[in-house]
Amino acid sequence: MNLKDPALFREAALIGDRWIDADPSNAIEVNNPATGNVIARVPKLGAAETRAAIEAAATAQKAWAARTARDRAMILRKWYDLMIENKDDLGRILTLEQGKPVAEATGEIVYGASFIEWFAEEGRRVYGDMVPGHQPDKRIMVMKQPIGVVAAITPWNFPNAMITRKAGPALASGCAMVLKPASQTPFSAIAIAVLAGRAGLPAGLFSVITGSAREIGAEMTANPIVRKLTFTGSTEIGAELYRQSAPTIKKLGLELGGNAPFIVFDDADLDSAVEGALIAKFRNNGQTCVCANRLYVQEGIYEAFSQKLSTAVGKLKIGNGFDEGVILGPLIDLPALEKVEEHVADAISKGASVMEGGRRHSLGGTFYEATVLTDVTKDMAVAREETFGPVAPLFRFKDEADVIAQANDTEFGLASYFYAKDLARVFRVAEALEYGMVGVNTGLISTPEAPFGGVKLSGLGREGSKYGIDEFMEIKYVCLGGI
Ligand code: ADP
Repeated sequence: MNLKDPALFREAALIGDRWIDADPSNAIEVNNPATGNVIARVPKLGAAETRAAIEAAATAQKAWAARTARDRAMILRKWYDLMIENKDDLGRILTLEQGKPVAEATGEIVYGASFIEWFAEEGRRVYGDMVPGHQPDKRIMVMKQPIGVVAAITPWNFPNAMITRKAGPALASGCAMVLKPASQTPFSAIAIAVLAGRAGLPAGLFSVITGSAREIGAEMTANPIVRKLTFTGSTEIGAELYRQSAPTIKKLGLELGGNAPFIVFDDADLDSAVEGALIAKFRNNGQTCVCANRLYVQEGIYEAFSQKLSTAVGKLKIGNGFDEGVILGPLIDLPALEKVEEHVADAISKGASVMEGGRRHSLGGTFYEATVLTDVTKDMAVAREETFGPVAPLFRFKDEADVIAQANDTEFGLASYFYAKDLARVFRVAEALEYGMVGVNTGLISTPEAPFGGVKLSGLGREGSKYGIDEFMEIKYVCLGGI
């Protein structure tokens, strides 16, 4: 791979100040999902290395927390600048291991870096309170302090941004972080660790441990030094980590699965609804937890919307993310491809029609055609489970009450979207949707300024925004007496 700075691509993990190179006899092979070829290897580490990283973090964290917020902010700002300066290389590394088109990957780097920038700024605005005393000689002071050592486990779909969204607030508030990136996409994490060192982040504050998820996760959850676990991934693993964290009563941040409804009302602007659906459904080839999973279209515009959407979907160019003009890359791996196939087959067997796509792509590998299904109903798997692929299932609905009931009929509650013009309806529907996030007349809602997170089985806590930093802090109350 052509990088301007080849030192950003390291086959190594970082524990405190120690880089551990991949030993071929005990390593994880990382594949390029577009070709199936092995790119390179990372070390397969376990509990002992995780413990060492946690201990290094505990030492480094104390000195880090004692520095001023401005000091921390200056280093984070430098880290941000380095990510932006190196965005092309970071984007190429990301495409190589994740598959998304290089323009989209570079976009993720800019988006990911923006969390570091945002929290560098927010870190200087963590205020406490002075509360009127309950007795004449008493005063009540409330301060916020960093929680301490944080463990993070991140997924492969955003190999950069899911890390920065956690590392930004953790480091800005004075915490240290031990990260286990997804085994499919460790190189993006390692590259930003290289840049953290160059930015002057003291050793021990950001370790990257590659290896056995089960072993590393077990140590992260059992170790009492770790005071917070922040995880983005499936609800199943999130629940497992929740259980494992119970004995040490850790604070948890969980960003889990979604099953996002995307509702188009009769009064919507059809063209912008189609554009929004393309973004909300097909970004990252349908592999995001906020991707529209169920598209509900009102009867009066169902035919027109499905025609327009299918035409637009048919034009999306599929291929290797490094090729010119490609909009949709491969799926991450074979199980992901098989899940998409199963969902489509299940829908067809229960009466859905394929309006566009519907098969593996002729490119082979894990490529799948961008697909539109019509006449989809709630008894089909696509209604209940995240497809995590390029399939837009179109449901038909009659009225507002009907669609709200259908949209909320899921155990998940992360993102939701709807298109409508009537102002009263906009308020009613936004309030009625049982989701942590609602996009109204837009298919793109993620940004560092806004609180990202879900309700129900979609998780705990919020990331980004002014609320995101509190997740990494404890409140301490000091009662001042004898005044
Ligand atoms: P996905 O379906 O997105 O891969 P997972 O929840 O399986 O979601 O994985 C998300 C992250 O959790 C990855 O970094 C993965 O390695 C990690 N992981 C998977 N299983 C476990 C486990 N038992 N304990 C800790 N981490 C795990």
